[in-house]
Amino acid sequence: MRDELARLAREVAEALRAEAASSGSACALPPRASPRALPPEDLVEDIAMRVRACTRCDLCRGRRNAVPGEGSPRAPLLLVGEAPGEDEDRQGRPFVGRAGELLTKMLAAISVRREEVFIANVLKCRPPGNRDPAPEEIAACRDYLTAQIAAIRPAIILTLGRVPARLLLDTPMGILSLRGKPRPFAYPGGTATLFPTLHPAYLLRNPAAKRDVWDDLKEVHRLLREFTGDWPPPIPARAAAESPAPPPAAGS
Ligand code: SF4
Repeated sequence: MRDELARLAREVAEALRAEAASSGSACALPPRASPRALPPEDLVEDIAMRVRACTRCDLCRGRRNAVPGEGSPRAPLLLVGEAPGEDEDRQGRPFVGRAGELLTKMLAAISVRREEVFIANVLKCRPPGNRDPAPEEIAACRDYLTAQIAAIRPAIILTLGRVPARLLLDTPMGILSLRGKPRPFAYPGGTATLFPTLHPAYLLRNPAAKRDVWDDLKEVHRLLREFTGDWPPPIPARAAAESPAPPPAAGS
């Protein structure tokens, strides 16, 4: 009887996922609960080791350090940026420059600590002069991001800026049209809600856009609590009252 009930529960969950995906509605269903071959910690570390040794594209020639990503391999929230910059290349860690400081403050504004999420980029090595990633570089590198998503199995994927949103949604649309509109996202072994927002570096250049991003962050906070039941903690009253800027004040 117990096996039969478990089978029925799996079939209902699959049917709901299929319906959500076909309806185009925002999908808040949890990732599928099939067993992983290995713990996510091992999978994420294996991916990082492969990234550090990778020579799939020419960016390996100029890097000081590859930047596989960092954070909790079991995080309900995965952040995906574009590519490492100079500071990230020097330290081998994602989002550690001014944009990274702002990102940390943005997360804190919704009661999330950096180490509670996983932060990755589309490209794992720095393009020279921080130029846009080339299509062939994205094609060479995307398997690593796909593998990270499948290993971490996040409930929410928050994309930062144009490049990750376009790649994961497979669309040529601009980020200002995409931002703030959550979409269902299927990955090998599960589903998530993909939420596009603006890149912190863009906010440093365009402080007025913080109003929109603060709205996005509040919605991400709501979706996370809907998924987990009790995380992250409620947004501090002071932060909510100080909207529209993602509080505390950014370094711009
Ligand atoms: S950018 Fe990606 S594909 Fe290119 S060398 Fe680095 S890890 Fe490999």
